[in-house]
Amino acid sequence: METGIDYESTGLKCGLEIHQQLDTMKLFCNCPSLLRRDGPDFTVKRRLHVVPGESGEIDIAAVHEASLEKEFTYESYDTTCLVELDEEPPHTINSGALKIALQIALLLNCKILPVSQIMRKTVIDGSNTSGFQRTVLIARDGFVETSHGKIGIATLCLEEDSARIIDKEKNVFRLDRLGIPLVEIATAAEIKTPQQAKETALKLGEILRTLPVKRGLGTIRQDVNLSVKGGKRIELKGFQDIRNIERAIEIEVKRQHELIKRGKSIPEVRAVNDDGSSRFLRPLPGAARMYPETDIPLLRVSRGMIDEAKKELSSIKEKEVKIEGLSGEMSALLLRERKLDEFKELLHIIKNPQLIAKTLLIFPKEIASKEKKSLVEIEKILNRDVLGNVMENVKKGKIKESETKHALENIAKGKGIEFEKVDESELEEKISKIIKEKPGLSVNAYMGLVMKQFRGKISGKEVSGIIRKHLK
Ligand SMILES: [Zn+2]
Repeated sequence: METGIDYESTGLKCGLEIHQQLDTMKLFCNCPSLLRRDGPDFTVKRRLHVVPGESGEIDIAAVHEASLEKEFTYESYDTTCLVELDEEPPHTINSGALKIALQIALLLNCKILPVSQIMRKTVIDGSNTSGFQRTVLIARDGFVETSHGKIGIATLCLEEDSARIIDKEKNVFRLDRLGIPLVEIATAAEIKTPQQAKETALKLGEILRTLPVKRGLGTIRQDVNLSVKGGKRIELKGFQDIRNIERAIEIEVKRQHELIKRGKSIPEVRAVNDDGSSRFLRPLPGAARMYPETDIPLLRVSRGMIDEAKKELSSIKEKEVKIEGLSGEMSALLLRERKLDEFKELLHIIKNPQLIAKTLLIFPKEIASKEKKSLVEIEKILNRDVLGNVMENVKKGKIKESETKHALENIAKGKGIEFEKVDESELEEKISKIIKEKPGLSVNAYMGLVMKQFRGKISGKEVSGIIRKHLK
């Protein structure tokens, strides 16, 4: 990116905070981590009060919110319980989530704390029924390797996700997301350019996805902390797209330079807009925000727990090696997303492991985020048949390898590429023959047999229609 800014002379110091949802039950109760699309089973109304922090002071960010005197409504479900409503003390910490956090700590070369105090972080924007978020420091002092060298990992915390906002005007929140385990990774403020920030964020995302973490929109969130020489600390929040990180940092550095010239740089939290610009959200919270959670005993992490976490990690690594032509991370990702079968299937069409891995694991996510659709929707369109067809076309040179993503994008937009026509009567004949030869199979089984013979040349929809007709 041509920025026209010499970052070395600006003294840019930038750190990332990554929040990743884990794919387990909730952190302090045994409710499923399930986002609901249907209406609530019941709602509860609350007002929240400001509680002095550890230092006895009231946090400036909390005062800012409390001054707005809001009443909050919480949508509840049969998949939420009294813990989310703050009517029952938290249960002991979810051991599965703790294990994943330990594994992330190991992958990030962190020192794991043997004993840790679970803390409450004041949050009174209504996104927590209790007025605080529980968080526990699991590890610190690690690093991640990037092409610019090591970037330090300052802290790794395990915390509970907040309730999600449903109606901003009416202050309505939904409790389905509250309590989903999050790992919060904070890098040291050692990042010196926007490009490094983006690379570090991508790298951390790649490492996280080798473990049982949630996927899709909203399951990983990045914040950026930054300061330039002579300026104050700024937090940028709410990146919809990781690619926005570079642009947002660049814009903020320019804005800071203007403010410093006028002597007006103040610490604040800003929300990032889709174009990379940002708007004021609230003052930067101070240290007064944290105080100990007294309902839960100290968290003790034994040697045995760490060994167990390590053992599982090495078994993931052993599996990795078996996939030729792919990086360890890509291999692990392929296994984690259970796409090894599809990978092998496409490898029969074209011997290009890198391209296939990207086609299965990366392009659909990028397209989903660009088109603002869910990954599930995109993968439904870019199904096995479609990907098979695209790979056939790449092999024949009808689609350039470098144009693969573009072709998939067009298909996702409904523009489509032409399926090579197979004569319909020939297809019908073949299907009826297969059904006669192997009677009594399921529609899916017949589908598999037919698609194998016409790989990439026909649409699954058409075939299933003919099969159903013949089975009547
Ligand atoms: Zn619960």
